[in-house]
Amino acid sequence: MKVLVVGGGGREHALVWTLKRSPRVTEIYCAPGNTGIAEMATCVDINAEDVDSLLEFALREAIDLTVVGPEAPLIAGLANRFEEQGLKVFGPKQRAAEIEGSKALAKEIMIKYNIPTAKYAEFTDTKEAIAYIEAQGAPCVVKADGLAAGKGVIVAEDKETAINAVKEIMEDKVFGASGDKIIIEEFLVGEEVSILAFTDGNNVVPMVSSQDHKRAYDNDEGPNTGGMGAYSPAPVYTPELDEIVYKEVLVPTIEGLKAEGREYKGVIYAGLMITEEGPKVLEYNARFGDPETQAVLVRLETDLVDIIDAIIENRLADIEILWKKDPAVCIVMASGGYPGHYEKGKVIKGLTEANQVGVVFHAGTAEKDGEIVTNGGRVLGVTASGETVKEAIANAYQAVDKISFKDMHYRKDIGKRALDRGL
Ligand code: AMP
Repeated sequence: MKVLVVGGGGREHALVWTLKRSPRVTEIYCAPGNTGIAEMATCVDINAEDVDSLLEFALREAIDLTVVGPEAPLIAGLANRFEEQGLKVFGPKQRAAEIEGSKALAKEIMIKYNIPTAKYAEFTDTKEAIAYIEAQGAPCVVKADGLAAGKGVIVAEDKETAINAVKEIMEDKVFGASGDKIIIEEFLVGEEVSILAFTDGNNVVPMVSSQDHKRAYDNDEGPNTGGMGAYSPAPVYTPELDEIVYKEVLVPTIEGLKAEGREYKGVIYAGLMITEEGPKVLEYNARFGDPETQAVLVRLETDLVDIIDAIIENRLADIEILWKKDPAVCIVMASGGYPGHYEKGKVIKGLTEANQVGVVFHAGTAEKDGEIVTNGGRVLGVTASGETVKEAIANAYQAVDKISFKDMHYRKDIGKRALDRGL
């Protein structure tokens, strides 16, 4: 079977690595891929958002299955276009993927189908938004409606920050048209957990839980990032919580989407805040999350292609999905300065040695004069397993210790919260 993976970050490296283990897969292509992916797949120089060229490539190469990593091509309708041409594709169609593409839509669906979430109000007018903040006070959370590369959410501790966020999003258009509409949400307090689930539109099967670390520095300090590390399972996610989330979040989400004519097939991600009142949904993603995917997929035992087939053929309920018991930890190694300004082109050493201890997924790397160099903010996702979370953390940091590049920075406390819970 010839498979095309769309995307080129750590998540896609983990997807390629997982698909490579399937005896059913004979060839893997990845568009655009990256230096690490190139060691196990043929990289194709097509941007992940260039749906026309991807479609042309898939038809020309008679690709048997396309697996989509990032959200933008899904929201642009990649799955619709591929299906129209008779190509098999894993990822939700446009109207379903809009649950990530519009935060206002996600909120409407949550309210309509009684899915627990923060209280909110929606605005297209700056003055009205500011008046609302003046009346409601802070803390509150200001969110651009559309996609903003993970940066469109401002958690404002005071009114001034909230009002500035509204002006930047709606007037200065720092996120472009994504900020034509905003939502302002009640600030929730609790621990965050991510739940990824497979769904064929009728049945929904949660994956093992995970928790990521969004802030740049230890002890959850510093600016928000795309994610500095993750571990799976998340001990805050107890079996009781698992049952509540399944019944009160996952099932009504999938049923609600179906009732709205937005049948959802693929991977759905719910970012949850575990509050004193119970779990509340912060956001949905229409695909695997990054870096949670790295920690989750290394635990998958069942052939991912079998799961994908079952989803496409509406028989997810008939297959058993097995996971390894051993916890896994992913530590992101970033360029100095990330998530702000950073330099590229620093030579990376020690990858072979690190790969003997764990698995090194590449996120932002490139090849230059025969050497592997940094080429992005998040550079590597160093992942390892162990019999306990403690052991997985130790193994992952042992692999990290083998790697060096100038100005590298990574958090030293990934998984600490799990240890604090006595695991
Ligand atoms: P989102 O992209 O909506 O998940 O938001 C990004 C991050 O902002 C989340 O991971 C939370 O840390 C934070 N956040 C979002 N919404 C809220 C909220 N209502 N209350 C507190 N924190 C939030």
